[in-house]
Amino acid sequence: MKRNKKIYTYYTPKQVCTDNIKDLSFSQSPLKPKLLMERIDTLGFSEMLDLKSDFKPLNKKDFKIAHTNQYVENVFNKTGNYKSNSLPWSKNLVNSLGYTNASLYHAKRHAILHPESVSFAPISGMHHARPSSGSGFCTFSGQVISAIKIYEEFGLSGAYFDLDGHFGNSIEDTREFNPLLNKAIPKGCNVNPFGNNEEYTADFARKLVLIGNLIKSGKIHYVVFAHGADSHMDDDLGWNCDTYHWVKCAEMFANWVNEISNEIGKPLPVTLALFGGYRKNNYTAVLDLHIKSILKISNIVCGTSFKDNLEIPEKYPILTK
Ligand SMILES: [Zn+2]
Repeated sequence: MKRNKKIYTYYTPKQVCTDNIKDLSFSQSPLKPKLLMERIDTLGFSEMLDLKSDFKPLNKKDFKIAHTNQYVENVFNKTGNYKSNSLPWSKNLVNSLGYTNASLYHAKRHAILHPESVSFAPISGMHHARPSSGSGFCTFSGQVISAIKIYEEFGLSGAYFDLDGHFGNSIEDTREFNPLLNKAIPKGCNVNPFGNNEEYTADFARKLVLIGNLIKSGKIHYVVFAHGADSHMDDDLGWNCDTYHWVKCAEMFANWVNEISNEIGKPLPVTLALFGGYRKNNYTAVLDLHIKSILKISNIVCGTSFKDNLEIPEKYPILTK
């Protein structure tokens, strides 16, 4: 199946929040898009990506697709439950949210319009937000908002392979608030594998088959692969997979994309996203895990031949200053 060699990436520095994150926030996710792009550059993998930076942010009206008027206003105006995302509030943070959410929306839209290109939204926290509050470092439900916008525009339904270490509750928690979500991401299409190492990859394999069947029967039209680094067992918030099994998931996904594309006779639209990842003593390990995953997909799906020599150090001993 013919694919573009480069992964089409929706990244702008505007999707990064720098205010108070490094020192005051447990989660470094608002900085992650920038840190990841810099790391990709440092390692000499920039050629893997085609960057698209001039895209418009989502706005309040878009956020209200998945959230109450009150909650959206609270986040914008620093009132009420604006702290429910557990991130330090700043104008910079609010501005960045429009762009992180837009990055995912545009990346998905691009994959649908140009399925020969794998697309990439270098974004994290989204999948714990609820209609009337943020949660677990997530402010707005970007995957819900983008899926409903895509459904309204194209009448297409998607599936999420959410391989973050934590269950992506946003989708299930928003079904009642906006029932269009039942069409945009049908029940059973918010995939969160469970277990440890072999158990985890076996569960993922089963779920790939289920979603594959829905694609072949025309019920699902695109997929998003969100390979959260906190499903790695050395993550501060993770326990699922060692490096071998974590990377194996990217390999399984990439091979599955090729198989399904061959079976349906056209390239399956694929979008990549980052989601979680927390290692206080070595954030580079989080970035390198994400890069290992993207390299696998680039090599297997896009037909590149990048060498991955990245070593992921074990969590212990903890480095001290
Ligand atoms: Zn997580």
